[in-house]
Amino acid sequence: MSDKPHQNLAVIGHVDHGKSTMVGRLLFETGSVPEHVIEQYREEAEEKGKGGFEFAYVMDNLAEERERGVTIDIAHQEFDTDNYYFTIVDCPGHRDFVKNMITGASQADNAVLVVAADDGVAPQTQEHVFLARTLGIGELIVAVNKMDLVDYDEDKYRGVVDDVKKLLQQVRFSTDDASFIPTSAFEGDNVSEKSDNTPWYDGPTLLEALNNLPEPSEPTDAPLRLPIQDVYTISGIGTVPVGRVETGILETGANVSFQPSDVSGEVKTVEMHHEEVPEARPGDNVGFNVRGIGKDDIRRGDVCGPAEDPPKVAETFQAQIVVMQHPSVITAGYTPVFHAHTAQVACTIESIDKKLDPASGEVAEENPDFIQAGDAAVVTVRPQKPLSIEPSSEIPELGSFAVRDMGQTIAAGKVLSVQE
Ligand code: GDP
Repeated sequence: MSDKPHQNLAVIGHVDHGKSTMVGRLLFETGSVPEHVIEQYREEAEEKGKGGFEFAYVMDNLAEERERGVTIDIAHQEFDTDNYYFTIVDCPGHRDFVKNMITGASQADNAVLVVAADDGVAPQTQEHVFLARTLGIGELIVAVNKMDLVDYDEDKYRGVVDDVKKLLQQVRFSTDDASFIPTSAFEGDNVSEKSDNTPWYDGPTLLEALNNLPEPSEPTDAPLRLPIQDVYTISGIGTVPVGRVETGILETGANVSFQPSDVSGEVKTVEMHHEEVPEARPGDNVGFNVRGIGKDDIRRGDVCGPAEDPPKVAETFQAQIVVMQHPSVITAGYTPVFHAHTAQVACTIESIDKKLDPASGEVAEENPDFIQAGDAAVVTVRPQKPLSIEPSSEIPELGSFAVRDMGQTIAAGKVLSVQE
């Protein structure tokens, strides 16, 4: 583990624009993937007639690990710069990337947006920028990638930069909080070393830009919130819930409560990376043991918090949502599945209270009959089973959710208020 401040980084952008390749190269050039592993991928790639794919292979392999439920050991997706220790909060190759961006095991502090120079702004560029803004991502580093495919042409680069700036303005993302870098993930231009191919560019490399990001504030002032990912029984220890500390501090000896299961007890031990630790902080993946709590007392989707300030359980909640895709219209009574932190609960949209102008956020219509793809709205939601969720203004980490139906993410949103 590193003493450097921690940054959770999302890598976003349209499919095939080079996210996996970029992440693979970042891991490689920072020495986070051993050369022999890269060599092995290179050989495999060449055997399959896909020379040069080795960086993407690294990420694909990691994505596969995640699919198999390997969530605790995230060592492979970490790298460091002089100032920070970075964790890539999601694997771009993951099929539920968008859902994970929203409900992700951890919220990203900042993001790298990859836009291919030969393709420019594409539908998922737009979608991801929109989500980044809804979810409160701090700064965006825009890698205008595949510069090798456009002969490192400055005008081409400027064109893409202008289009991305327009997009950022559309969603009211301050362009002051974005930096732009011409890159080739494939050739390694301006990733960790300044490229001779772009003499017209005198800004930072991608690694320098990452190193210069502002320090994220560590949410230890907020009360403990630890969504439970799994519950194991380990011989010699007993029941071990595991999850990631989102806010606050988990300490041995503390009295904690699990909601909505509504049980509490004293923390006996906390383990991280197979070692016992006295406390765990935001971003830490832990397993812990609580006196008197059995395997069937708690479940995935519970949130652990201090017994004196337990996580809220919503009878109903009001939320602001953005409908990303839906084949028809959404009306009151619609009951899709809400994914919030580690919970998945069917929830009924009881009423559509306001339709909002997606760009300005101002009220466009009170009590509309329906909403559809592209609309933003304020809705009142009733979970069909107890759900622990928090207003995003109080605990942002537990205040956002994805709405899923028919195997798709149809909307994303954040919680405005909770009625317990
Ligand atoms: P993702 O879907 O955004 O993760 O994209 P990938 O990283 O899988 O890349 C898609 C394709 O673009 C692969 O064939 C990569 O080898 C290729 N690619 C990625 N970055 C570059 C680049 O900078 N230059 C060129 N020429 N190809 C690239």
